[in-house]
Amino acid sequence: MKYALVTGGSRGIGRAICCKLSSMGYYILINYQSNENEAMITLEKVRQLGSDGELLKFNVADSVETNQVLDQWNAEHSGEYIEVLVNNAGVRKDNLMIWMPEDDWHNVVNTGLDGFFFVTQSLLKNMLIRKYGRIINIVSLSGIKGMPGQVNYSAAKGGIIAGTKALSQEVARKNVTVNAVAPGFISTDMTHDLDESDLKKVVPMGRFGKAEEVADLVGFLASKQAAYITGEVISINGGLYT
Ligand code: NAP
Repeated sequence: MKYALVTGGSRGIGRAICCKLSSMGYYILINYQSNENEAMITLEKVRQLGSDGELLKFNVADSVETNQVLDQWNAEHSGEYIEVLVNNAGVRKDNLMIWMPEDDWHNVVNTGLDGFFFVTQSLLKNMLIRKYGRIINIVSLSGIKGMPGQVNYSAAKGGIIAGTKALSQEVARKNVTVNAVAPGFISTDMTHDLDESDLKKVVPMGRFGKAEEVADLVGFLASKQAAYITGEVISINGGLYT
């Protein structure tokens, strides 16, 4: 059995990644924070694709909870390990910095940046021992370019990008690759409150991206064929960045 963990797998991009990795033969560990109904729908889709999986509920921003759940999984699966990790969980709480409540800073930074650290550190040891692993971090155009109204989100994603580059150099010799995928506007719950008809005009391709398009890129980075790609940040944004 080959195992992949997708944080924030209950909805949106995470769900599409769960489906993609299941079609590649992975047993999927679907992490979510609170939305069990949606996580169950992801699991059903994984099963419809001929694979299987299970739900792992934990808050990626909480190191105690994260380690408790992942340590227990490891204890129940001795001799096995999670070879693909997709750090996808993330939240947005937009505001101009001058108006930003301290809680919104911490919530966004902790979910993104702390979550990347806690979950990755927990799985890294086994990847290094087995000399194979794939870590893919879902960041954002905001983390590359910086977006007004998103100082918290841009800082969190920018921090993960720097962490991706640093970690990739620490573990490259053990055949563990670490890459980041930076989407632009993708149609999911996270962008539901945005005016898509207006914003799509700034995208050279004239549309928002689909979660499945991001998942296809993640699937490639998770594959054996991507063995020589590490420390990269790959944009998927319909031409928006330039
Ligand atoms: P989404 O539809 O809002 O889904 C967010 C997912 O993250 C849900 O599964 C949610 O779980 C989970 N989550 C949130 N906080 C969590 C926590 N503390 N612990 C564990 N799980 C948590 O978002 P999305 O659009 O699919 O975004 C996925 C990733 O892509 C995020 O990192 C986001 O920043 C990034 N991204 C998105 C876009 C875009 O345009 N959509 C663009 C660039 C980057 P529950 O269901 O339990 O709440």
